[in-house]
Amino acid sequence: MITFNDLKKIADVLKKAGKINEFNQILGLQEQLLNMQDQMAKLKQEKEETQRKNKKLEEKLNLKDDLEPRNNAYWRKSNGDGPFCTKCFDENAKTIRIPAEKKGYSVCPKCKNNFNLTGGEVVSEYVDEEVKPLYPEIGL
Ligand SMILES: [Zn+2]
Repeated sequence: MITFNDLKKIADVLKKAGKINEFNQILGLQEQLLNMQDQMAKLKQEKEETQRKNKKLEEKLNLKDDLEPRNNAYWRKSNGDGPFCTKCFDENAKTIRIPAEKKGYSVCPKCKNNFNLTGGEVVSEYVDEEVKPLYPEIGL
């Protein structure tokens, strides 16, 4: 492959020999070569960007195949990891981990959806049991 320096050497020889037309042709080739190098750099950048996006999409597809619904949440088939919010994944393809349950009910930190991870019916709001006073006679 001809390099920019090769063209410069040829241009110098032509200039010394007084071949002005040929010298100008070489200058034109140098410009074309620079433009092509610019285009190649842009294409390389686009290719890398496309590969990154492709990898992300592939990971999402693999993740979708790897998730199974169980007990009102998603769990990974491959390693049992979970639970993940079904609403967040179905709507935004995000795996949001549902924190440890509180008496069978957990809340997604992102969408605030309530879950019954024991597999029971999903309730819209968790209500804590009423706290009974230890000493009702004196109001404590
Ligand atoms: Zn969520």
